[in-house]
Amino acid sequence: PQRSLVLVKPDGVRRGLSGEILRRIEGKGYTLAAVELRSATPEILAAHYAEHEGKPFYGPLVEFMLSGPVLAVVIEGERCIEGFRSLAGATDPTVAAPGTIRGDLGRDWGLAVQQNLVHGSDSEESAAREIGIWFPELSA
Ligand code: ATP
Repeated sequence: PQRSLVLVKPDGVRRGLSGEILRRIEGKGYTLAAVELRSATPEILAAHYAEHEGKPFYGPLVEFMLSGPVLAVVIEGERCIEGFRSLAGATDPTVAAPGTIRGDLGRDWGLAVQQNLVHGSDSEESAAREIGIWFPELSA
């Protein structure tokens, strides 16, 4: 079955929403293949966000992701990459559809980075790459 790398970002962990977010993933029917609360490092984030290097929000994004622990999760299930992105909703939580994680639980806090609670891989290629970064022991 397909796998995706999901992160509950520091804002989600800080606000005590990890359980709620996992509940939605499991409610949808996906399996949790790995769950680990951990602190990101500059090295991990440089790899994870390589495609955003040089963008104006890159520095603030890395700083935000280092501001507290993240919950790193590998989910599993048919079409779970697409399915989780649908659960997560649009990047900007202000306009993310109600019913989605970002739409129900997120808002704009007037900060330099969209603090939007979760990350989910956007393709099979990124999922494989990101699982390799966060859970090297899982990518055989
Ligand atoms: P999605 O792909 O669902 O939009 P994402 O997490 O994959 O979400 P990316 O475009 O990969 O979004 O950007 C990574 C993260 O960088 C976003 O989740 C958000 O936290 C932040 N970000 C993206 N664009 C901006 C922006 N224009 N201003 C501030 N922060 C941003």
